[in-house]
Amino acid sequence: MIRIEKLTKNYRTIQALKGVNLQVNEGELFAYLGPNGSGKTTTIKILTGLANPTSGDAYVHGYHVVRETLEAKRQCGLVPQTINLDHELTVDENLDIHGRLFHMSARERAARIDELLDYVGIRERRNSPIKHLSGGMKRRVMVARAMMHAPKILFMDEPTVGLDPTIRRRIWSLVKSIQQSGSTIFLTTHYIEEAEFLAERVAFLDEGRIVAVDTPQNLMARLGTWALDEIVNGDMETIFFQSREEANRHLGKQQGGFTLRRVNLEDVFLSVTGKKVVP
Ligand code: ATP
Repeated sequence: MIRIEKLTKNYRTIQALKGVNLQVNEGELFAYLGPNGSGKTTTIKILTGLANPTSGDAYVHGYHVVRETLEAKRQCGLVPQTINLDHELTVDENLDIHGRLFHMSARERAARIDELLDYVGIRERRNSPIKHLSGGMKRRVMVARAMMHAPKILFMDEPTVGLDPTIRRRIWSLVKSIQQSGSTIFLTTHYIEEAEFLAERVAFLDEGRIVAVDTPQNLMARLGTWALDEIVNGDMETIFFQSREEANRHLGKQQGGFTLRRVNLEDVFLSVTGKKVVP
C-alpha cells in the first residue's frame, strides 16, 4: 500500500532523510517512530504530496507521489500534527469544505458528514464553531475531515498529542475501528505505549535512516523478556534478561535500588536510537 525506495530529502544544509526504504501492507496499522527531528513528518509530507523528495521514489496505492501526484493524494487522508481547522466555522462547515476540495457532490458530502459525525462521536456538536470545542473534540473533527473523501490510507501525525488519558484511549478505539473498516493507517507518535498497543508493525527512524522494522513483539523479544533498571554511579542503567531466574541470579542478594519489569517498546526505542547504553 505504501512503498518507499531510497528516499532522501534535503532542506538546504539539513539532510532530513538519508535513503529510507519501507513497505507498508494493505490494511496494516503501522507506527513510524523516532526521536524529535528524525524525519517522521518529512516522510509523511512527501507521501501526502505536501513536499517533494530530493531523490528516490515513493508510491501510495501504486501511484507515484511525484509523477502521479493528484491520484496519489486522492488515496491519502492526513491528520496533521497541529490543529488546522477553520476555528470560526462549524464542524459541519469544516467537513463540507474538505468534501468540496475533493469534488464530492452536495449529496455525497451530506451523506458522508452524517456518517462520520456518528463515527467519531461528535454529532451533538455539529453546529458548534470549532473555537468552542475541547482539544479532544477538535482531534476527532480532524480525523473525520481526513476521512471525508474515503481515503485508502490514513496518515496520523501524533494524533493524541496533549490529550488526557481518557480521550487518548477514545482516539485509540477510533483508530482501531478505522483500521477494522479496511483502511491502512500510518501513525507517528511519541507515546511509545500507544504504538505498542495499536501497531501491528513498527519502524524506528533515527537521523533520517530506518534502524529497525518489525512487529513490537519481535522487536522486544530481541532484547529479552525482563528488564532491570538500576542506578549505577548515579546513572540509570537497564539490563535485559531472557528469564526472571537469570535476572534474579544477576541481582544475587541485592535488596533494593532496582526495578525489575517486563521489556517494553520504549526499551527498543532507546536501544535502537542509541539514546541509552544497552549491554
Ligand atoms: P518531531 O518528532 O519533532 O515532530 P520529526 O521526526 O517529525 O520531528 P521532521 O519534522 O521531519 O522530524 O524534521 C526532520 C529534520 O528536518 C529536522 O532537522 C528539522 O529541523 C528539519 N526540517 C523539517 N522541516 C524543515 C523545513 N521546512 N525547513 C528546514 N528544515 C526542516
